[in-house]
Amino acid sequence: MKNIHIIQFVILLVLVAPLAIWLYRDARGRDYSWLFWTIMPFIALFSPIYVAILLLVFILGIYLMLRPKGLLVKCPHCKKNIHDILTMCPFCRKEAKRECLVCHEPVPWEAEQCPFCKSRALTGKNL
Ligand SMILES: [Zn+2]
Ligand SMILES: [Zn+2]
Repeated sequence: MKNIHIIQFVILLVLVAPLAIWLYRDARGRDYSWLFWTIMPFIALFSPIYVAILLLVFILGIYLMLRPKGLLVKCPHCKKNIHDILTMCPFCRKEAKRECLVCHEPVPWEAEQCPFCKSRALTGKNL
C-alpha cells in the first residue's frame, strides 16, 4: 500500500513541478502575484490523483483567465521574458524601457528615437 502512495506522489510531482515553474516564470514576468501562483499547484500533491489532475487544469485555466493580458518580451539586460507594458524588469530590477526626455513616454530599449515625438533624447543613452 505504501509503494502506491509513493508512486502516486512521484507522478503528481512530475505534473506539478513543471506547472509551478511555468507559472512562476509567467507570473513573475508579468509582475503578478507570482508567489501565490507558484505555490498553488502544490496543493494538488495532497489530493487523490484524479482530483489532483482536475485541480491542476482548473488552476491553469483560472490563471490564464486572470493574468494580465499582453505579450511577453525579452528583458534587454537579463533576457528573461517580461510583460510588454512593464518599465522595470521584475527579475533583475533594471529598466526595461527608456523614457523620452521630451514627451516622457516609455520607449522600447532598442529604439534609436522616440516613436511619439521623434526626439533622440532618451534616458540611459548618450549620457
Ligand atoms: Zn531583467
Ligand atoms: Zn518623445
